[in-house]
Amino acid sequence: MKKFGSLEAGGTKFVCAVGNGPDNFVKEIFPTKSPEETINKAIEFFKFHNRDCSLKAIGIGTFGPINLAKESETFGCLTTTPKVNWENTNMFTPFKNAFEIPVSIDTDVNTAALGEYTWGSAKDLNNFIYLTIGTGIGGGGIINGSFLQGDQYPEMGHIFLPKIKGDNFEGSCPYHDDMCFEGLASGTSIGLRCGLNASEIIESAQVWERVAEYISLALVNYIYISAPQKILIGGGVMKQTHLFAKIRNNVLKHLNGYNHSSINQKNISDYICPPDLGENSAILGGFALAKKAYSTNGSSN
Ligand code: ZN
Repeated sequence: MKKFGSLEAGGTKFVCAVGNGPDNFVKEIFPTKSPEETINKAIEFFKFHNRDCSLKAIGIGTFGPINLAKESETFGCLTTTPKVNWENTNMFTPFKNAFEIPVSIDTDVNTAALGEYTWGSAKDLNNFIYLTIGTGIGGGGIINGSFLQGDQYPEMGHIFLPKIKGDNFEGSCPYHDDMCFEGLASGTSIGLRCGLNASEIIESAQVWERVAEYISLALVNYIYISAPQKILIGGGVMKQTHLFAKIRNNVLKHLNGYNHSSINQKNISDYICPPDLGENSAILGGFALAKKAYSTNGSSN
């Protein structure tokens, strides 16, 4: 059985894994420290598991923002990340140089979407959106079987939303204040609104009504722009699972019957739902990314 490497590079932790799918992998998690120390630790992990030269390719899903323009000299480099010391860090070349196997890189959300597409909630679909709502908000997706991607990847957390009447929160996005989705409904903004971590806020708190409303407004925009067959929402904030019912109701209310798909009261629970693979979406997506790189570039090795 062919063995692949997968790295989920996050702002607070790195998850490294080797294997080839949901039923066959081992993983190791360590905190994100300095770029050099953390990247070297990940390389050591893969070297250890490649002692017998059995690794065929490595797939990396990374936090961003990152330059993924293939022709660019700084391909694979983080850009303006607020993560201290990580600005301009190359997330691709150190791995490429350390191994003589194909290495493929994409955003963490695209990689998670690919995991769900290959093994999870979206495996029978060709069009879906994957959204993660945690400290920040990111979204990716597959449209007609390909990543939703233009010259660069989309920034679905930064779409502009109308402010709810009576909401005086000044926003938390360093670029758009209270004008964008992330500035209004991310874990960071919820923390600032309440002075508590999202996980500490009780279910009946009024903030959840607002958060659910902003999420549903964003979803209506995605539905109208890309007509997905499903919308998966993960991330720390969505551990407040009561949000799903509120979001589904609000989405139906805002669509108000004007949509070309058949979303309705009966099927909305299946249309807007958590990802099947849970916290392993991205690490499994990394295997899928690696397999793709192997079949495109490395299968003759
Ligand atoms: Zn923003």
